[in-house]
Amino acid sequence: SLECRLSDERASVLHSWCVQSEWQAPTITGGRGARLFDSDGRSYLDMSSLAECSNLGHQHPRLVEAIREQASRLCFVTSAWGAQPRAELAEALLELSGFAGGRVFFTLGGADANENAVKFARQARGLPRGQVIARDRSYHGASYAGMALSGDTRTQGQVDAQSFQVSHVAPPYAYRCPFGSASDAECGERAAAAVAAAIDRHGADTVAAVLMEPNAGTNGIVAPDTYWPALRALTRERGVWLIADEVMSGFGRCGEWFAWQRHGESARPDLMTLAKGLTGAHVPLGAVVVSAAVSARLEHEMLYTGLTYCGHPLACATGLAALAAYRDEGLIERSRQLGAYLFACLKALQARHPVIGDVRGGHGLFAVLELVADRERRSALAPWPQTPPALRRLVGKALDAGVSLATRGNLIILAPPLVIEEKELDDALALLDRLLGELEAP
Ligand code: PLP
Repeated sequence: SLECRLSDERASVLHSWCVQSEWQAPTITGGRGARLFDSDGRSYLDMSSLAECSNLGHQHPRLVEAIREQASRLCFVTSAWGAQPRAELAEALLELSGFAGGRVFFTLGGADANENAVKFARQARGLPRGQVIARDRSYHGASYAGMALSGDTRTQGQVDAQSFQVSHVAPPYAYRCPFGSASDAECGERAAAAVAAAIDRHGADTVAAVLMEPNAGTNGIVAPDTYWPALRALTRERGVWLIADEVMSGFGRCGEWFAWQRHGESARPDLMTLAKGLTGAHVPLGAVVVSAAVSARLEHEMLYTGLTYCGHPLACATGLAALAAYRDEGLIERSRQLGAYLFACLKALQARHPVIGDVRGGHGLFAVLELVADRERRSALAPWPQTPPALRRLVGKALDAGVSLATRGNLIILAPPLVIEEKELDDALALLDRLLGELEAP
C-alpha cells in the first residue's frame, strides 16, 4: 500500500540536508504545471520549483514525450561513442549562449559541472593546482570539491577548502554590506574590489579562476548590478578565467537564458556551468560550456576527466525538448514579466508587514524575502543560518493550505516554475500575506 511505501522511505533512505530521524514529507505521486500531487490526493502549489530546478513545471508533456521517444530508440551509449542528441544539444547550447567555437562537457548535475569547470580552467591556464576564488554565502554543490567551493556554513566544517586550493571572499550582500557600504551599487563595487585584492594577494599568476554566481544565489544573496561587470573586467585584466555558476540562475530563472546576459556581451564569462533548468529537472543533466579560448588550450591535451554517464542520450534528448519548450512557450520573457510583477507584489507586502526587512530579486521569477525582528535596526529573526521557529510554523501552515514554500535561515525564497499561472501566484501571495500577519500578531 502507499502507506507501506511511505514508511519504507522513512526507514530506508538517507535524506539530504536533514536529521534523519526528523525527516517527514508527503509522498509525491504526480504533478502538472506548478502543482504537485501526493498519495493522499492533496495538491501543492510549488513556489520553489522544488530545488529551484523545475523551471518548466512538473511532467511537461513535451519533455515526457521526448523521454519516451528517445527511450524507445536508444537509452544509453557512453561518450566513447557518438550520440545524436548529445551532438545536437551541445550545438544548441553553444548557439544559444553565443559561445561560438567553444565546447560543452556534459555532467550529471551542478556539483560535478563546477568541479569539472575548475579542472578545465586550471588545465587551460597551465596551473593544474591553481588557486580558485569563490565567495562566502555561496553554494556550488555537495561533492567534496563542490563543498570546498561553497562558502556555505552547512558545508564549511566538512571540508578544508584550502586543501582544494579554494579561498573565499566576502559577498555582495548589500542589505548587510560586509564592506559597510550604504548603497547597493557601492557594495557591489567593493565586493568586486575584494576579489581583485584576493587575486593580487595570491599573485595573479597562481590563480586559475574566479567561480561565482552572476546574480542570484540559493543562499539568498542577489548581487547588485555593479558586481558582475566589475568582476568580468578585473578577471580579464589579470588573465584569470571567470566561471559563471548558472546552475540555478540559468534557463530563465533570472529573466534571461543566462543571468550574466543581463549585463551584455562584455560580461560574458569564460566558462559557464549549467544543470537544473537544463532539463527542467525531468532527468539529471549538467554541463560545462567553455569559450573558444579555453577550448583552444584543451584541444591537443589529454583531458583528465570522465563520467560514465557523460552526455547520456536520454538526458540530452530531454535537454533538447526543454530548450524548445522555453523558446516556443516564450518562458524566458514570461519569467521576466511575471518576475517584475512578483517583485512589485512583494514590495507591497513589505509595506504592510514590518517583519519583511528586505525584498531582493526583480529579474525573473526569483525573489528573496529577508525577515527581521526589527526593521529599523535590521536585527535578524534568528542568527544565520538558523531558521526561526516562527518561520518554520509559517511554512508548515502554508503546506497545510496547499502551498509549498522554500526557506533558508531568515529567508523565504520564491522561485516558482516559469509556467505558473498568474492566478496561482496571486493565491500564494494572498496566503503569504495572511500568514505573515499571523506571524506578526503578538
Ligand atoms: N550551484 C548552484 C548555484 C546551485 O544552486 C546548486 C544546487 O542547488 C549546485 C551548484 C549543485 O547542483 P547539484 O545539486 O545538481 O549538484
